[in-house]
Amino acid sequence: MQSRPPRGSLIAAGAVLVVPFALIMVAAAALTVLVGITGSMGNSGSPGCGLQPSGSSTLVSPMTPGSYQLTSEFGGRTNPVSGASENHGGQDFGAPAGTPITAAAAGTVVEAGPASGFGQWIVIDHELDGQQVSTVYGHMWPADVGMSEGEQVRAGQHIARVGSNGQSTGPHLHFEVWEGGRLAGGRAVDPMPLLSEPGEPSAPPSDPAPVELVSSGAAPTVAQLMPSGPQGSQRNTTLDDEQLRNAATIVGVGKGMGMPPRAWVIAIATAMQESTLHNLDYGDRDSVGLFQQRTSQGWGTVSQIMDPRYSATKFYESFDEKIVARYPDWQSMPVTQLAQQVQRSGFPDAYAKWETVAANAVLVVHGVAPIEGTTPEAAC
Ligand SMILES: [Zn+2]
Repeated sequence: MQSRPPRGSLIAAGAVLVVPFALIMVAAAALTVLVGITGSMGNSGSPGCGLQPSGSSTLVSPMTPGSYQLTSEFGGRTNPVSGASENHGGQDFGAPAGTPITAAAAGTVVEAGPASGFGQWIVIDHELDGQQVSTVYGHMWPADVGMSEGEQVRAGQHIARVGSNGQSTGPHLHFEVWEGGRLAGGRAVDPMPLLSEPGEPSAPPSDPAPVELVSSGAAPTVAQLMPSGPQGSQRNTTLDDEQLRNAATIVGVGKGMGMPPRAWVIAIATAMQESTLHNLDYGDRDSVGLFQQRTSQGWGTVSQIMDPRYSATKFYESFDEKIVARYPDWQSMPVTQLAQQVQRSGFPDAYAKWETVAANAVLVVHGVAPIEGTTPEAAC
């Protein structure tokens, strides 16, 4: 049973950090839609009466330019999974797992949840140029769907994150546009001519993406995060956007798997020690990724482990098996003891010093200030 995150929570925390850009982006998106509508007024005799790829656009790109590469196009293709020929009903946007997906226009969420072949999908109904249009977003993991049915969205609003769930060979957004509505028996059209950012293949972004936000719910309490308080001397550091984004992924995966807040802290403290919360493509011997998991020890392939969602999932699976199932009082056990059981580190004491930093990361990705007196002094 998948619980639905409350409305708007996907963007709650990081909004603090990205407000100026978000406001500009939303304003620009709204303007584009308005221009699109007025631009086609009086155009009643236009052929086809469909969405017109005119000089102005009706929809905005569902992903930020620079954050994706266009992969499989709309139209006939060979199915990458089954090998059969088929009509591909949308445009694929290849991007690393966790890359933000945004609403292509203002509208109402009419579906958000599992759908055959899509993994999880979101369907948004819009009224554009006086006609019903749906946009569809697919292949997300459950923890990355930030919307629920009935919610109103703005153009450019962060609604989900890229996954590889369902009939998918790698992380991407499958994006469809339907004239007449997806659930109302409409027809799929090629999205690309309709987008304001007809995305040319692009290099990876040079700037780090905005901080990712966790997908649901109220922030946990400090007592939930550190039931016995921090144990041992604590390191004091400020996390950058990339580190916070990885922390948010770890929290989101933990939530999706039903792990309690204490487990998120242990996972983040472990990743701090193993990789300083950076998704490293190298490490000691064959260790890679946030948790420096090793292919030779059965954690997965390098490309699997390099997906933070995968590596966090494997961490929690192991945690569940080695800790939760074996130690009923694990929530009050020291971090040192717990992390060592899961990761088999040669230096178990090394994890405990990150406990406060990890607890603060959980708070920050929920939009809550760090624990008072635990962050480094700001340089004057
Ligand atoms: Zn697709």
